[in-house]
Amino acid sequence: MSFDVAAIRKEFPILSQTVDGKPLVYLDNGATTQKPQVVIDSLVNFYTQCNANVHRGAHQLSDEATRRYEKARDQVATFINAAHRNEVIWTSGTTEGINLVAKGLAQQLEAGDEVVVTEMEHHANLVTWQQACLQSGATLRVAPIFDNGELDLDTFKASLGPNTRMVAFPHVSNALGTVNPVKELTAMAKAYGALVLVDGAQGIAHGDVDVQALGCDFYAFSGHKVFGPTGIGVLWGKQSVLEDWPVWLTGGEMIADVTYQSATWGALPNRLEAGTPNIAGAIGLGTALDWFSNLDIAAVQAHEKALIDAAMTQAADIQGMRLIGTAPNKIGILSFVMDNAHPADIGFILDRQGIAIRTGDNCAQPLMHRLGINGTARASFSLYNTLEEVSAFFAGLRKAQTMLG
Ligand code: PMP
Repeated sequence: MSFDVAAIRKEFPILSQTVDGKPLVYLDNGATTQKPQVVIDSLVNFYTQCNANVHRGAHQLSDEATRRYEKARDQVATFINAAHRNEVIWTSGTTEGINLVAKGLAQQLEAGDEVVVTEMEHHANLVTWQQACLQSGATLRVAPIFDNGELDLDTFKASLGPNTRMVAFPHVSNALGTVNPVKELTAMAKAYGALVLVDGAQGIAHGDVDVQALGCDFYAFSGHKVFGPTGIGVLWGKQSVLEDWPVWLTGGEMIADVTYQSATWGALPNRLEAGTPNIAGAIGLGTALDWFSNLDIAAVQAHEKALIDAAMTQAADIQGMRLIGTAPNKIGILSFVMDNAHPADIGFILDRQGIAIRTGDNCAQPLMHRLGINGTARASFSLYNTLEEVSAFFAGLRKAQTMLG
């Protein structure tokens, strides 16, 4: 199979838009990815053909909705190579997945216990653990990074110990693009018997995630970062760990027996999925993952590498541009600051040229402070971006520099 970026682009209707008369150059894929027509169709089909609540099976629409919804769970399980379909818990996104785990663990943590995160966390994987520690009296340890955005593995290892209960880190940093050695970090944590949660928000769309091979206990991701809809995500957890995981949301769907005085919980996956789920979203995500799986992943990765390599090369020619995040193992995220130009102004001027990037603290304020900056401008690439768009971005940046300089 080969990778034909022009053909891929045709599958994404939004990419042919113009913004103020300029062709849209969408370089904010770290924030959310665009959706191929098949995903959009699957949402429309669901609402036009079989919208009904799931697992209430008194009629045919509900049966069909349930069939499609549960098929999507299988599609996720296949995509991430889960050992069992009931290890796939639907959430609203990465944030909720991490909260599900942290709120559960907070019920068990005690003073003296330790949770380890890294300096490169998104707020979703920092504030959540910070609050779990504050509530329980446990200690939060923050493993440092080097100035290039790479995790300091020796100090990470030294941050672990017999009191470590949970180690949580990103697969890929949204602010730096750093790809963490998940297997290696997990093995270090497992040497102390700690649980491991991987924040997969940025990792899921850039490679072949195999949760069994990674060896972690939890992997959380959002549908919208992998060509699926917003408002749907997945928490994958090892069955042996999830089975007894304390519930944090109670209500319909997740119970076995209920009296006015007490209740017992149902079996996985429903026991961790209280309330009516995002049915259309789950179906859309299943479609997105199938669509993605049908691509030649090695060719996709090679294309994305060509994009970031071209960007890094062209960045070297821009005077006064400083890249934030230059770890040797990084994917298509180009965060930067420029002399005499505030990120927000850069973003504004690029937007006037149809070029969409992210500006600000990247939902990682402590990381920005650690790096001695308030925020960055960030271009993030996806498989449908082209080398021409990379060049258009740098042309736009030069223009911004001239206007602001
Ligand atoms: N972690 C990382 C590394 C992210 O990039 C994001 C999204 N920017 C999140 C967590 C949170 O994802 P969501 O907002 O979809 O829950």
